[in-house]
Amino acid sequence: MDDESHPMRQPMPPTEPAAPSRARMALDRPVAAFLRAYMDFGRKAIPWKVAVFLLVTLPVLWGVALLEISNLRTIAEEESNRDAHNFSLAFAQEVKATVSTIDLSLIGLRANWIRNRADFRTIVNRFTPMLKDNIIFQVTIVDADGNLVFTSTDPNPPPLNLRDRDHVSVHARRSSDNLYISKPVKGRVSKKWSVQFTRPIFTLEGKFDGVIVASVEPSYFSRFYHQIDLGKNASVSLSLADGTVLARASDANNDQGMGTKLPTPPFDDASEPLSGYARYVSVVDGIERFYAWRALPAYGLIVNVGQSVDEGYARYAHQESFYLNAAIVLSVVLAGLGLALAYASRYRQQAMQALADTEIRLKLALKGSREGVWDWDLVRQTATLSERAQEILQVDSPTLSCTAEAMQESVHPEDIALINHALMAHITGHSADYSIEHRVRARDGSWIWILSRGMVTERDANGHALRMVGTFLEITERRTREESTIYLAQHDRLTRLPNRWLFSDRMHQALVRSYREQTMFGLIYFDLDKFKPVNDYHGHDVGDKLLKAVADRIKGCLRESDTIARLGGDEFAVLLARLAAKEDAMDVAAKVLRALNEPFVVDGLRLEITGSLGIATYPEDGLDEETLLRHADAAMYRAKREGRNRICQYRERAAESLSA
Ligand code: GH3
Ligand code: MG
Repeated sequence: MDDESHPMRQPMPPTEPAAPSRARMALDRPVAAFLRAYMDFGRKAIPWKVAVFLLVTLPVLWGVALLEISNLRTIAEEESNRDAHNFSLAFAQEVKATVSTIDLSLIGLRANWIRNRADFRTIVNRFTPMLKDNIIFQVTIVDADGNLVFTSTDPNPPPLNLRDRDHVSVHARRSSDNLYISKPVKGRVSKKWSVQFTRPIFTLEGKFDGVIVASVEPSYFSRFYHQIDLGKNASVSLSLADGTVLARASDANNDQGMGTKLPTPPFDDASEPLSGYARYVSVVDGIERFYAWRALPAYGLIVNVGQSVDEGYARYAHQESFYLNAAIVLSVVLAGLGLALAYASRYRQQAMQALADTEIRLKLALKGSREGVWDWDLVRQTATLSERAQEILQVDSPTLSCTAEAMQESVHPEDIALINHALMAHITGHSADYSIEHRVRARDGSWIWILSRGMVTERDANGHALRMVGTFLEITERRTREESTIYLAQHDRLTRLPNRWLFSDRMHQALVRSYREQTMFGLIYFDLDKFKPVNDYHGHDVGDKLLKAVADRIKGCLRESDTIARLGGDEFAVLLARLAAKEDAMDVAAKVLRALNEPFVVDGLRLEITGSLGIATYPEDGLDEETLLRHADAAMYRAKREGRNRICQYRERAAESLSA
C-alpha cells in the first residue's frame, strides 16, 4: 500500500486566517488580546459547560460567603442589642434617681408651702441650688383656680392663669396625690425647653388647693448621652409611655425631636414587658438604630438607647469585606478555571473528533484495501488484529498471542530466523521499518505467504520498544506465481529436470563448498546413442516419452544430494556433489549406463537405447565450471568416437574407459 493511495492520511490544511484589519491590529495589547480570546471562546467553546460549572460553584461560594456575612451581622446585632440594653439599664437607674430626687423635692417644698408660705421664697432659694446641677430651675405654685401665686424666678409674678395647662388641670380633675410629668414645652419668653413635674396641694381638710410645679431642663436627662460610648449616631431618649419624647440626645443636637411622638412606639402604655429591643429608622433624624428600651412604670416613663445600625455592623466590616473580597477573588479564579476547563475540554473534543475522523477514514481505507492491521503490545506479547488481518491469518479471535512458542506454531520454520532478524534490526534502530515476506500456517495445514510490514510506535524512557503497529498483506498467489516462474526458468519443461542454468548454479555451489572443504565432486556428461532414429521411426512424441522415461530412471539411480539435468536434446549431465574417492564417479556412471541398457517400454513399444558417458572430477580435471564442463563433454565425445555405449574419463588412459 503506497502513500498515494491514502490521500486522507494527510491532516486537513488549516483554514487560512483572514488578514488582520487595522482596527484589529490596534487591539494587539495584552488586555485586548485577552478580551478577544474570551469573545472568541464565547463563540467557539462549549459555553454551557462553563455555565453549568459556574452555576454549580458560584452559588455555593456566594452562599457560604453571604451566610458568613449574615452570621457576622447577627453577632453584630446581638452585641449592639446587648450594649444598648446595658446602657438602657444604667440610663433607667439614673432617670429613676433623678425623678425621685425631683419628686421628693416637690413633696418637701409642698409641705413647706402649706406650713409657712411667708418664708417659702427663702426656702426655695436656699433649697434648689443644693440640688445637684440645679435640676429644678423654677418652682411655681398655682391656686385651685389655676392662678399663678408663686414663682421662684419672679418675686412679683404677673397675673397669669394656667388652668388650661395639662400639668395643672390633671390634678384638679383627680383627687389622688400623684406625680405628674408634663410633655416638654418651650418657654414662650425664655425659648427654653422645660418639663414640668407637678404634685397637687391639698388643704389640711384634704381639699384641692392648687398645684406645685418644678420645672426641669430636659437636657439634664439627655446629659447621660455623654457618659456612654455607643459610637457614632447613637441616641438616648426619655419619653412618656405614649412615645412623646421628653429628652433626647444624639450626635446632632441635644434638643432634636423634643415633644415628637413616635408614630408607632415599640412599647405601649401598659409597658409589658418592662424592656425590649427594636430596630427602626428614627422619625427624628432618619437614622436606623438598634434600640433597647426600658419602662419605668412608677413614673410612666420610657428610656430608649439606640446604636446606629451602621456603627453596629462597622465592628465586623473588616471581616465582611474580607469575605466579600475572598468571594470575588474566588469567583474570578473559578471563572478562569471554568474557562480553562472549557478550553481544555474543547481542545480535547476537537482532538477526539479529529482522531475519530482519522480512524473512520483509516477504517474506510482499510476496508477497501486488502491489508489487515495489527497492533502488537510487546510487553504483554499479544497483538490485536483487524477483521481483515484475522481473515488473512485465518484466526477467529482479534487477539493473538505472540510468544516464541506461538510463533513456532504458526510461522514456517524456515522463516522464523528471518523474522527475528528483521525485527531485531528494526527494534534496535538499524532499519527504518520492519518488512518481511514469510509463511504462516493456514487452517488446513498449508502455508500462506504474507507480507508483514510495521514500525515501532511507542518506546519507554530507555528507548525499549513497547508497541508496534503494522499491516499484513496476503501474497500467496504472487509468491506461487513467482515460484513457478522461477521453477520454469530453472527446469526443463519436458522432463522437469533442472536445466542448464540451474545445473550451472548447483555446480557453482559445489565448487565453492569443495574449495572450502577441500573435497572432490564429479561431473558425468551423457548423450543417448542413436536417438534420432527413435524419432524417425516412432515419431517425435514417442521420442519425448522416451526422454522422460530416461530422466525418471536415471534420477532413481542417484542420491538426493546429486543433481541430474537435461542440457538439451538427448544430452544429460549429472553432478555428484560429494565424492569420497574419484572411483566413485566411475561407479555411478556405470550404474547409469546399466540403467540405460535396460529396455524402455513406451506406448507399448519396447525400445532399447544406449548412452555415451564422459566423466570429469574436481579438482583433478579442472578448477572452474567451464573447464570441467568442457572436459566432461570432451570425455563424452571420446566415448562416442570409441564406439558409444561406454564411459570415458577425461584423462586419456585406456584403462579408465569402460564399455558396457
Ligand atoms: P548420436 O548417436 O551421435 O548421438 O546420434 P543421435 O541420433 O542421437 O543424434 P544427436 O545426438 O546428434 O542428436 C539428437 C537428436 O535428438 C536430434 C533431434 O532429432 C533429437 N531431439 C532433440 N531434442 C528432442 C526432443 O525434445 N524430442 C525428441 N523427440 N527428439 C529430440
Ligand atoms: Mg544422441
